[in-house]
Amino acid sequence: MSDGLTRRTLIIGTVGLAAAACGSDDETEPGLTGSPPSSPDSTATPSDGTTTVPGAASEVELSGDPFSLGVASGEPLPDAVVLWTRLVPEPLEVDGGMPDEAVRVRWEVAIDEAFTDVVADGTAGAEARYAHSVHVDATGLDPATDYFYRFTVGDHTSPVGRTRTLPDGGRDDYRFALTTCQEFQWGEYAAWRSVAERDDLDAVVFTGDYIYESPPGDLSPDQNGRRVWATPPPATLDDFRIRYAQTKTDPSLQAAHQAVPWFVMWDDHEITDNYWRDGGGQIDPIGGDFQARRTVAYQAWWEHQPVRFAPPVDGYLDVHRVVKLGDLAQLLLIDTRQHADEPPCRDTSVLDAGVGCDERLDPERTLLGPEQEAWLLDAVAGATTDWNLLVSPSLFAGLDISGESDAEPAYYLEAWDGYPAARQRVADALRSADAESVVLSGDYHASFVLDVGPGFDDQPLCAEFMTPAISSVPFAEDHTAGNAHVRYFDPVNGYVVCTISPEECRADYVTVADVWDPASPSTEVASYRVGPGAVSYTH
Ligand code: FE
Ligand code: CA
Repeated sequence: MSDGLTRRTLIIGTVGLAAAACGSDDETEPGLTGSPPSSPDSTATPSDGTTTVPGAASEVELSGDPFSLGVASGEPLPDAVVLWTRLVPEPLEVDGGMPDEAVRVRWEVAIDEAFTDVVADGTAGAEARYAHSVHVDATGLDPATDYFYRFTVGDHTSPVGRTRTLPDGGRDDYRFALTTCQEFQWGEYAAWRSVAERDDLDAVVFTGDYIYESPPGDLSPDQNGRRVWATPPPATLDDFRIRYAQTKTDPSLQAAHQAVPWFVMWDDHEITDNYWRDGGGQIDPIGGDFQARRTVAYQAWWEHQPVRFAPPVDGYLDVHRVVKLGDLAQLLLIDTRQHADEPPCRDTSVLDAGVGCDERLDPERTLLGPEQEAWLLDAVAGATTDWNLLVSPSLFAGLDISGESDAEPAYYLEAWDGYPAARQRVADALRSADAESVVLSGDYHASFVLDVGPGFDDQPLCAEFMTPAISSVPFAEDHTAGNAHVRYFDPVNGYVVCTISPEECRADYVTVADVWDPASPSTEVASYRVGPGAVSYTH
């Protein structure tokens, strides 16, 4: 979505290691991680089967604490979890303050915070070509179990992170924070502090807009200078790395990463506003070769997230995936930008908002791309869990933003409203599946509860819970009056806590009082729940 003070008018503003993408470390064979297998220049595999990294930690002189961005975990499975860090003593410098050589990093996973009972450990390579990021797939773990992890390099030890494996089979419930949109310049991260301080979460799900491409500017009410991008709008790999690093310097964001494992998806601002398969938004102030920008943007995203993927190749990285939360639910994480057709009706729309046109209704149009769509329809139909949870990086249910009951309907055309035939195919699959459906979404910069259909279907299919932005400016324009399927709307900052059980899917809406106060209290302001069967809310 265009991120301006109103949504419509203003913009401010490593492989082949698919299976071993994050390395193959286990207790018996420490190995390199995060690096393509075809990299003899930076790795060597001696005949004894171990992997060595040129430039062992003891040989590399570091200019300061290399763990300035903290640690993170993600993509838990019942027996594994990805551990992440990046060695970067000077996060806002082009080279991060690191030498141009690989560094060996030690990692440990323990039952206890004091690391007296270590259950997995090894070494991993932090390569200069991947900004000395480290991705370890720690395996051999037990399901639904808490673990602590840390990294060491030379005399430096990282902060300790806590993580939790997924349940395997039956479980009473599973609870995660649904989150989105954390523009660094638009506010402090009190919402992340609130997430970190909770003791009831199994995970965080982030739907996208981790960084933004906005130009630097001090938007704080007291002009305190604390939240200003260090670089112009990013175009190069160095630019994108510095954006991620600057965002990750925030202690509350680090605390949220260190509290629970994350499932991270991307949206548009990880490259540029409203981008699609081959280009940017109607106005792309950065310009240049879009494919080149996408290539470096995807690499920087990969370098900075705790994900179980090989590094992107030539600007492509399939990130859609399904996560099975025991027998309770499957999370269907989809990518609505990389493979999308161009938003329709650009002759008449402004920042991809406006009335429809024939192009919008073309049944051939795709938001997910043919391969991802086929994958999604299969995954939805094949659910063996109680719930199908579709995690959409943008609004799924749709919204008439014309503002007048007798006006021609208008839409945000870069979201699902610009691709109604594709949306109907997904909705039909959700309706046909044995599992109960709920849509969980982000991007809009407001809290919503909506019925999915009618509007594009005869009767409500399921509920959609839209989480508000962590810090990005809320969009206050209230379209409730013209949209009978909107059950709740609140333009605030905060997050949603989702609790899944066989009996219900509950969404608790948590609001930050003052987005410019890093110590701002957070309050639960609304709670909606749906059970199996017809869409019916209690709150
Ligand atoms: Fe956003
Ligand atoms: Ca967005």
